[in-house]
Amino acid sequence: MIIFGSRSYLYRLAMITLLCGNCGNPAAHTLRKRVVKFTLFFVPLFPLSTKYSTQCTFCGAEHALPAEQAEQLRAQSLAAQPQPQQGGRGRQPYGQGGDQHPYRN
Ligand SMILES: [Zn+2]
Repeated sequence: MIIFGSRSYLYRLAMITLLCGNCGNPAAHTLRKRVVKFTLFFVPLFPLSTKYSTQCTFCGAEHALPAEQAEQLRAQSLAAQPQPQQGGRGRQPYGQGGDQHPYRN
Protein backbone atom coordinates (compact mmCIF):
# COMPACT_ATOMS: atom_id res chain seq x y z
CA MET A 1 0.00 0.00 0.00
CA ILE A 2 1.31 3.37 -0.99
CA ILE A 3 0.41 6.32 1.14
CA PHE A 4 0.75 9.66 -0.55
CA GLY A 5 -0.69 13.10 -0.17
CA SER A 6 0.33 16.70 0.13
CA ARG A 7 1.35 19.03 2.86
CA SER A 8 1.52 22.79 2.85
CA TYR A 9 4.25 24.86 4.42
CA LEU A 10 3.90 28.50 5.27
CA TYR A 11 6.91 30.79 5.31
CA ARG A 12 6.91 34.37 6.51
CA LEU A 13 9.32 36.19 4.25
CA ALA A 14 9.10 39.80 5.35
CA MET A 15 7.07 42.56 6.90
CA ILE A 16 6.32 45.41 4.55
CA THR A 17 4.33 48.58 4.89
CA LEU A 18 1.88 48.76 2.01
CA LEU A 19 -1.28 50.63 1.22
CA CYS A 20 -3.97 48.04 1.72
CA GLY A 21 -6.34 47.60 -1.20
CA ASN A 22 -9.09 46.44 1.13
CA CYS A 23 -9.14 48.83 4.10
CA GLY A 24 -7.12 51.64 2.50
CA ASN A 25 -4.69 51.94 5.43
CA PRO A 26 -0.91 52.16 4.99
CA ALA A 27 -0.55 49.14 7.25
CA ALA A 28 2.12 46.52 7.83
CA HIS A 29 1.68 43.53 5.58
CA THR A 30 3.10 40.08 6.02
CA LEU A 31 4.70 38.70 2.88
CA ARG A 32 4.06 34.99 2.88
CA LYS A 33 5.03 32.03 0.77
CA ARG A 34 2.96 28.89 0.79
CA VAL A 35 4.55 25.77 -0.61
CA VAL A 36 2.51 22.63 -1.15
CA LYS A 37 4.70 19.57 -1.23
CA PHE A 38 3.94 16.13 -2.48
CA THR A 39 4.43 13.56 0.26
CA LEU A 40 5.02 9.86 -0.01
CA PHE A 41 4.70 7.91 3.24
CA PHE A 42 4.48 11.29 4.97
CA VAL A 43 7.88 12.32 3.62
CA PRO A 44 7.78 15.56 1.63
CA LEU A 45 9.42 14.95 -1.72
CA PHE A 46 8.98 17.88 -4.08
CA PRO A 47 6.93 21.06 -4.25
CA LEU A 48 3.66 20.89 -6.15
CA SER A 49 2.93 24.58 -6.04
CA THR A 50 4.40 27.76 -4.63
CA LYS A 51 2.20 30.73 -3.99
CA TYR A 52 2.98 34.16 -2.64
CA SER A 53 0.61 36.46 -0.87
CA THR A 54 0.51 39.53 1.30
CA GLN A 55 -1.73 39.80 4.33
CA CYS A 56 -2.76 43.09 5.85
CA THR A 57 -2.18 43.08 9.60
CA PHE A 58 -4.84 45.74 10.00
CA CYS A 59 -7.86 44.08 8.42
CA GLY A 60 -6.52 40.62 7.62
CA ALA A 61 -7.20 40.83 3.89
CA GLU A 62 -5.00 38.53 1.84
CA HIS A 63 -3.86 39.20 -1.70
CA ALA A 64 -2.07 36.79 -3.97
CA LEU A 65 0.82 38.13 -5.99
CA PRO A 66 3.21 36.73 -8.58
CA ALA A 67 6.60 35.39 -7.52
CA GLU A 68 8.54 38.19 -9.25
CA GLN A 69 6.61 40.82 -7.36
CA ALA A 70 7.05 38.97 -4.08
CA GLU A 71 10.80 38.77 -4.58
CA GLN A 72 10.88 42.46 -5.44
CA LEU A 73 9.03 43.34 -2.25
CA ARG A 74 11.30 41.15 -0.19
CA ALA A 75 14.39 42.76 -1.69
CA GLN A 76 12.93 46.18 -0.92
CA SER A 77 12.20 45.27 2.68
CA LEU A 78 15.70 43.87 3.13
CA ALA A 79 17.26 47.01 1.71
CA ALA A 80 15.17 49.20 4.00
CA GLN A 81 16.15 47.38 7.16
CA PRO A 82 19.38 48.19 9.01
CA GLN A 83 22.07 45.63 8.38
CA PRO A 84 22.56 43.26 11.33
CA GLN A 85 26.38 43.44 11.17
CA GLN A 86 26.39 47.17 11.90
CA GLY A 87 28.75 48.09 14.71
CA GLY A 88 30.29 44.65 14.71
CA ARG A 89 33.83 45.97 15.13
CA GLY A 90 36.61 43.51 15.62
CA ARG A 91 34.86 40.76 13.71
CA GLN A 92 36.09 41.20 10.18
CA PRO A 93 34.98 38.34 7.98
CA TYR A 94 37.81 38.89 5.50
CA GLY A 95 41.15 38.84 7.37
CA GLN A 96 43.62 41.73 7.12
CA GLY A 97 45.53 40.62 4.06
CA GLY A 98 43.25 42.41 1.67
CA ASP A 99 43.69 39.72 -0.93
CA GLN A 100 40.22 38.39 -0.27
CA HIS A 101 38.54 41.75 -0.24
CA PRO A 102 35.33 41.38 -2.22
CA TYR A 103 35.54 44.84 -3.77
CA ARG A 104 39.17 44.68 -4.83
CA ASN A 105 39.87 43.16 -8.14
ZN1 LIG B 1 -6.23 46.15 5.20
